[in-house]
This record gives sequence, C-alpha cells and structure tokens, in this order.
Amino acid sequence: MTRDLILFGPPGAGKGTQGALLAERLGLLRLSTGDVLRDAVRRGTAMGREAQRYMDAGDLVPDDVIIGIVRDYLAGEAADTGVIFDGFPRTLPQAKRLDDLLEELNRPLQAVLVLEVESDVLIKRLSGRRSCAGCGATYNVYFDPPREEGLCDRCGAALSQRADDDPATVQRRLAVYAEQTEPLIVHYRKSDTDVHHIDGEQSVDHVQRELVELLEE
Ligand SMILES: [Zn+2]
Repeated sequence: MTRDLILFGPPGAGKGTQGALLAERLGLLRLSTGDVLRDAVRRGTAMGREAQRYMDAGDLVPDDVIIGIVRDYLAGEAADTGVIFDGFPRTLPQAKRLDDLLEELNRPLQAVLVLEVESDVLIKRLSGRRSCAGCGATYNVYFDPPREEGLCDRCGAALSQRADDDPATVQRRLAVYAEQTEPLIVHYRKSDTDVHHIDGEQSVDHVQRELVELLEE
C-alpha cells in the first residue's frame, strides 16, 4: 500500500527543504510537476511530446496533459512508492482530477500537510535573501547578515537580490498562494482527508520532527 501526501506551504515556508527531508526519511518520491514535466519532455514520452507542443507555442500546458504526465509517473516509477506532491495540485479542477486519478489507481491520499508561517516572517525570509555571485554564499539581511553590508564574508564580492525577492513581488507571490491554496484546503477538508497545519516558524529540525510524528501516528 502506497502512502501519498500533499505538501502545501507559501513561498519561503521551507516546503522544498521539508519535502526533501521527509521523502528521504519515509522513503517517498517527491513529485514536483515541473520536474516530472521536464523529464517527460526529455524522454520524449507521448505526453511529453504533447506538452512540448504547448510549450513551443508559448502556451500553458493544459490540465489534461499535466494529469496525463502525473498518471504516467504514478503508474510507472512511483507504482510501488508513495509520493509527496509538491506544488501540485494548484487549482480546484486539478485537485478534482487528482482525486479521480488516485481513486482509479487505488491510492488513497494519506494526508494533506500545510506549512504555516506568518506573512511578516515570510516577507523577511524572502525579501532579506542575498546571494554572492562570486562564491554562491547566501545570507539574509534580517536573520543572517554579512559582517559588512552588501559584501560577501567569504570572498568580498557584492551581494545581490533576486528580482523575485523584492518586497512588492514577494507580497504578490504570497497573495497568489493564499488565493490558490485556500479553496484547495477547504476541498480536502470536505473530502474527509486528514489536513494538518504545521507551524513552519520553528526550526527545520522541529518542523521535520512534527511532520514525521504526525504521519507515524
Ligand atoms: Zn562570496
């Protein structure tokens, strides 16, 4: 019996880190649709070629194709292994399609995990990020500042901020997340799936321990 999980969390909540740790700890695969999509395109599967046509035309890959790729993955490499869905589903129609697919494949969803972090903390985590183009070191001006403002401790090069992390963009990313995710959480609550909210402001280790304890109950 496989155990499939969905992990939600706003940008900056540590979803990627926690998902990777959890996958390793529980022996699960992580399904990020972006990765799975790129892989299908690279391998030239029927669905991958279909997706390629949309991308070549500059269009979004439609849900039918995304679901087809997820189906191939679940029936293929993940046939005997549980999966952590990361960044998918994003919309209510996708969630409903995923419900049907999991039912068809006889893979009941074990739980939905939601990392919660207050938006002022997320804004500091994201808009405070700086990185060094010289050596790749990363900093946060609020939580882990360099000794000298704007300069890398290790190599002295100037630090820079990703365009995605400027405060206005961060606000917008958080708003999009809230708008997309709320209806999904309501959907899973209504469908009797266990939905757990985890305090993502704790340390990485604490969050991980809490996730593992929840799932081992
Ligand atoms: Zn550096």
